[in-house]
Amino acid sequence: MIVVLKQHIDTQDKNAVRSFLEKKGFQVREIVGDHDTVFGAVGNVSIDFREVEILDGVSRVIPISKPYKLASRELKNEDTVVPVGNVKIGGNRIAVIAGPCAVESREQMFEAARAVRESGAVMLRGGAFKPRTSPYSFQGMGEEGLRILKEAGSSAGLPVVTEIVGTRYADMMKDYVDVFQIGARNMQNFELLKTVGKIGKPVVLKRGLSATIEEWLMAAEYLMANGTDNVILCERGIRTFETYTRNTLDLSAIPVVKKLSHLPVIVDPSHATGIRAKVPPMALAAIAAGADGLIIEVHPHPDEALSDGPQSLYPEEFENLMRDIQALSPVVGKEIECLPEDLPPAVKEIRLASKTGTGGISFQGVPGAYSEKALHAYFGDEALSLPCASFRDVFDSVLNGSAEYGVIPVENSLAGTINENIDLLLRYPDIAVTGEYRLRIKHNLIGLKGASVENIEEVYSHPQGLAQCGEFFEEHPGIKSVPFYDTAGAVAHIAEMKDPSKAAIAGAEAARVYNLEVIKAGLETNPRNYTKFFIISRIERDASENPNRAVIVFSTQDKPGALLKCLNVLAEKKINMNKLESRPIHGKPWEYMFFLSLDIPEEKTVLDDALSELADYADNIRILGKYRVKRP
Ligand code: PEP
Ligand code: MN
Repeated sequence: MIVVLKQHIDTQDKNAVRSFLEKKGFQVREIVGDHDTVFGAVGNVSIDFREVEILDGVSRVIPISKPYKLASRELKNEDTVVPVGNVKIGGNRIAVIAGPCAVESREQMFEAARAVRESGAVMLRGGAFKPRTSPYSFQGMGEEGLRILKEAGSSAGLPVVTEIVGTRYADMMKDYVDVFQIGARNMQNFELLKTVGKIGKPVVLKRGLSATIEEWLMAAEYLMANGTDNVILCERGIRTFETYTRNTLDLSAIPVVKKLSHLPVIVDPSHATGIRAKVPPMALAAIAAGADGLIIEVHPHPDEALSDGPQSLYPEEFENLMRDIQALSPVVGKEIECLPEDLPPAVKEIRLASKTGTGGISFQGVPGAYSEKALHAYFGDEALSLPCASFRDVFDSVLNGSAEYGVIPVENSLAGTINENIDLLLRYPDIAVTGEYRLRIKHNLIGLKGASVENIEEVYSHPQGLAQCGEFFEEHPGIKSVPFYDTAGAVAHIAEMKDPSKAAIAGAEAARVYNLEVIKAGLETNPRNYTKFFIISRIERDASENPNRAVIVFSTQDKPGALLKCLNVLAEKKINMNKLESRPIHGKPWEYMFFLSLDIPEEKTVLDDALSELADYADNIRILGKYRVKRP
């Protein structure tokens, strides 16, 4: 059952409720949510709920209707994010685990680890105990294989995951592995589940060959009831009548499980299909279906593999797949998880600071704004966000040190440049651009719980939000659009008014922050709606490593061909330009500053040479920032 505690319960009452439940024989887990704190009480105990409901500090008691309790979303509404070393599986990230089917040799594992690490995998796989269909097939290298796996993992800075096939290996294995894998054939080996659960390390739990979703979640419950909260479910294909592929990848299991459970779900397209060429399309399909990650077999020389060669990707194929995942991730509103050392320096610094509750980052708007979403996607969910009333306040907060960084929108793919922020960049010489982030803008109709489109009379939002949902208003001529100063602010306003005939248009995050409901999702007329944000810092903190993008400004003389000459310098040096904007210079009518975003060529001196040549034709050249973008 779920025991919902009153909001301001004191520690004494809380302890009393906990010990009451424990004395009755329940296992108690405390879960702190956005709005409530609850105790999840599970166990083979029958009790009259009213006995609990009358305890001081208890708000209400809710039974859990599903046979799995700890794994159920009824108990815990927020997604579980499983930490493995410095990486995280779940939430708004896509974590990719890769490596060969089996550990075969030192050379093979070190080569595999280096290759998958370079392409962006965050964990290394490799079986040392292989549950093979035939007793005559390669059975794995055993403990020696684990030693090699661990060494290869640490040489590349990757945590490792490997399969445990029997309870007797548990003690020996626990010092070698970061994550245990329970294989499909062992999903219902309850003794193994109990033993591994007790170790408390994270577990990848494969779905059994013929297991229903409920049986799979019950297996997760075994792990959780025995002591680990960190279970990663892995769909790897099930047995059907189809024989063309090795198994049938049940992609529909992903949204089903994500509704039933808070646990992260990853997909193994390698064992699901058994055919190399089918792995990349199914990997992308899994991400599109909402998977939190992938586990993929990659072998440095698949033709020589001792097991599962035909389904193992060549390292180049894996690199290509990672590029495709990178392109797909903003569409599903996620970011590819990467190792901390691959993060931009600003993000590294903020991740450290947020552990101590410092390192604020400012954005314009109220909590739940798109800018705040971009801020968290870039810096991580734990980053401390500081709302500001205006864009100018964001710049000032960064300049005066009350914020370490700021996040400002600079361009929307439909509405164009946000000139105010370009102008502020020009006017604040001590502010630098130190990164960028592209966010997909997905508008939602947000109202009171239980409200429906039919009963809505007025919809509030930022004028741009309203304009981007034109088709919705054409289809509902009875609904009046009301301009508001920002999208999330409109949601806060609806929450205050408590009128079921009023709604707002904003990001889904705002509905969560103000405890309202998404009445209709995807309201934007054009789904290809993205906003680019700049990350700004004080100029002396701008310290990007190995930058591949530069943002510069300059002015030209008022002479024929002046701009052409400047652009020619870039063209001759083969420097790709991805944005050019002109802005009027304040106080100098009809004179302009040009704002450019450029790709920095591999050969770094090329940009410096170009800038010094540019000085012959341009004035007031200023580099606003240089930074690294992933796979530009
Ligand atoms: C594996 O991942 O190596 C494996 C054997 O997978 P499964 O248990 O899904 O068959
Ligand atoms: Mn395999």
